[in-house]
Amino acid sequence: MGPPILVVATRNRGKSAEIREFLADFSIEIKDLNDFGPLPEVAEDGATFEENAYKKASFIAKILGLPALADDSGLEVECLGGRPGIHSARYAGPKASDSENNAKLLQELSGQTNRKARFCCVLSLAVPTGPALTYEATCDGVILEGPRGNNGFGYDPIFLYPPRNKTFAEMSRDEKAQVSHRGKALREFRDEFEKVLIWLGKRQEEERLLRGDYMCD
Ligand code: IMP
Repeated sequence: MGPPILVVATRNRGKSAEIREFLADFSIEIKDLNDFGPLPEVAEDGATFEENAYKKASFIAKILGLPALADDSGLEVECLGGRPGIHSARYAGPKASDSENNAKLLQELSGQTNRKARFCCVLSLAVPTGPALTYEATCDGVILEGPRGNNGFGYDPIFLYPPRNKTFAEMSRDEKAQVSHRGKALREFRDEFEKVLIWLGKRQEEERLLRGDYMCD
């Protein structure tokens, strides 16, 4: 029997490569959705990051019959009551670009003195029968009045990380990963991975029992 398989619920090869690198010290085979051909899409219509991450992970785990890991993330702005939140990717409209989303947010914040914001990331690891583990992390910052820096994606150019006086778009990928919401959640996941493997083994045992997969002698 080979190592256990974990499916990263994404078609983004960059994301699955990052997870593969993070878990390189463990005996686990990381696959992503590109390894499985066409699959139905899951509606990301949950009310929280956690719900959306769990929906994606459990949907993929169920249809593939394998443990699946999914993430959901976004930006919460204090004076906007947490908006854009779960709508971060499409804040300025269904096909909005990053710069359109940034422009909408800057416009909403014009004249606003409380510019506190935080990025959130939730990782959900689900098994086909439903149970899941959740990892959550945040990163506090402030929204600038205009963009700074050219790296990254999304709201990176307008999100200042005060301890380094840099926006995420002024950081290298490694520097951002040291402090970002996603970097923190992934490190928490990796630090617990020995326990995660035990948990996965137990869930697999339960699945076999449920299926009556044992030979009687
Ligand atoms: P997701 O792909 O559904 O998790 O959507 C995440 C959205 O939140 C992205 O499209 C970005 O707009 C925003 N976002 C999440 N993480 C980051 C980040 O690290 N930098 C900038 N924007 C982010």
